[in-house]
Amino acid sequence: MRTLDQINFKDQRAVIRVDFNVPLNDKLEVTDRTRIEAAQQTIQHILASGGSCVLLSHLGRPKGKDPKLSLKNITNTVEEILGVPVSFSENCVGKQAEDLAAALPVGGVLLMENLRYHPEETSGDRTFSEQLSKLGTVYVNDAFGTAHRAHASTTIMAQFFQEKCFGKLLEQEVLAIEKVMKNGEAPILAILGGAKVSSKITIIESLLDKVDHLLIGGGMVYTFTKALGGNVGNSICEPDYCDYALELLEKAKQKGVEIHLPVDVVAGDAFSNDAKQNIFDVMEIPEGWEAMDAGPKSNTTFHELILKCKTILWNGPMGVFEFSNFANGTISVGESIGEATQKGAFSLVGGGDSVAAVKQFGMQSKMSYISTGGGAMLESLEGKTLPGIAALS
Ligand code: AMP
Repeated sequence: MRTLDQINFKDQRAVIRVDFNVPLNDKLEVTDRTRIEAAQQTIQHILASGGSCVLLSHLGRPKGKDPKLSLKNITNTVEEILGVPVSFSENCVGKQAEDLAAALPVGGVLLMENLRYHPEETSGDRTFSEQLSKLGTVYVNDAFGTAHRAHASTTIMAQFFQEKCFGKLLEQEVLAIEKVMKNGEAPILAILGGAKVSSKITIIESLLDKVDHLLIGGGMVYTFTKALGGNVGNSICEPDYCDYALELLEKAKQKGVEIHLPVDVVAGDAFSNDAKQNIFDVMEIPEGWEAMDAGPKSNTTFHELILKCKTILWNGPMGVFEFSNFANGTISVGESIGEATQKGAFSLVGGGDSVAAVKQFGMQSKMSYISTGGGAMLESLEGKTLPGIAALS
C-alpha cells in the first residue's frame, strides 16, 4: 500500500478523487458534512507538504447537467471545513479546466465540477480518464465510498500516473477491514442484522472463514428459526432460503464458528411504532404477531458475548430501529460494543443501516472505526478486491 507519507508533495499538484457525494436540502445546503470532513486530513497533509490540490468528485446521479447537482453548491462548505480559499472549475476536463489547474499556486485548492455530468465517468472511458489525468502530477484516491466502482476517476485514470497513492481515509478504511478480516485478535465476532438473509449470503459465507462467533439478528433471524421448526407468526421470513439457512448452520459447525440467535423477541401486532407489544420465545411467535426487535434475555446474552470478544464487526440493525419502540435491541448491541471497545476490543461498524443507527443514537465516539462506504464496505466483507484499490497497486 503506497501511502501519502511515501510521496514528496513539494511543488506537486495532486489530483485527489474524493467522495463529496453529500446530501443537500431544498435550499441546496449540505445537511451532512461527514464525507467532506473525512477528506480533510489528506488535503491538509498535501497542502502542508508544499503541494496543491485538485479535487474530483461526483454528486448524485445527474441526468445531463442538472444544476442542483453542481459541486459549486458545496464550494463554500468545503472552504469552511478546510479553512482555505477553494476555487471552482465549471468543467472537470478540457482546456479551461487544465489551465485553471496549471495556474494553481502552492497551497491552492481547486474543486472541479461534477464528474458525472459526463457519462464517460461511469462508463470508465479511457480518453476521458486521460483528460482527467492532465489536471495534476500525482494521483491520490481517497474515495472509499466509490472504490468498488471501476469508473474513470476511481480506477482507469490511475494508469496515466507514475506517482499514485492511497489517501488517508482510504488507507484507514482498508486497515480497519484488514484488522477484522486478516489480522483480528481472537475471539472475533461478526454481528449481522438487517432485513434479509438473501442479501447477505456472500458476506456470511466469507465471514465463516474469518470469525469465531457469528451473531445473527434483525429480520434474518426468522428464516433460520422457521428452518429449525419454529413458528414465526407474521415476522419477515424468506422460506425459499430455509434450506440454505440449515446448510449454513452445518457449515458453521464444521468450521468451528458458534452461531448466536436471539432467544426472545419483541413483537408487535402490526408493522407500526404504535403497535401493541408482546415478548415471545423466538421459536414460538404466534400468528398475528410480527417480531421487530430482540428481546431482553437476548440483549443480556448478547452483552455477555460481545464483552468476551476482542474484535467486533457490526453490519445491520437488530430490529426495526427506525421505530423508537423497537430500537432497544439495536441500542443495546451498540452500547455493548461501545463498552467492549472501551475495554480494548477493536470495533468496526460498516455498511448502511448500522452506521445510520450508530449516528442516530449518538454512539460514533464509542466505536473504533465507522466506515464511510456502504457498498464498498459490503464488497470488502464479501472478500472482493475493490477495483479502486487494485488500481493503486
Ligand atoms: P439491511 O439493509 O438488509 O441491513 O436492512 C436494514 C433494515 O432492516 C432496516 O430498515 C430495519 O428496519 C430492517 N429490519 C431489521 N429487523 C427487522 C425485522 N425484525 N423486521 C423487519 N425489518 C427489519
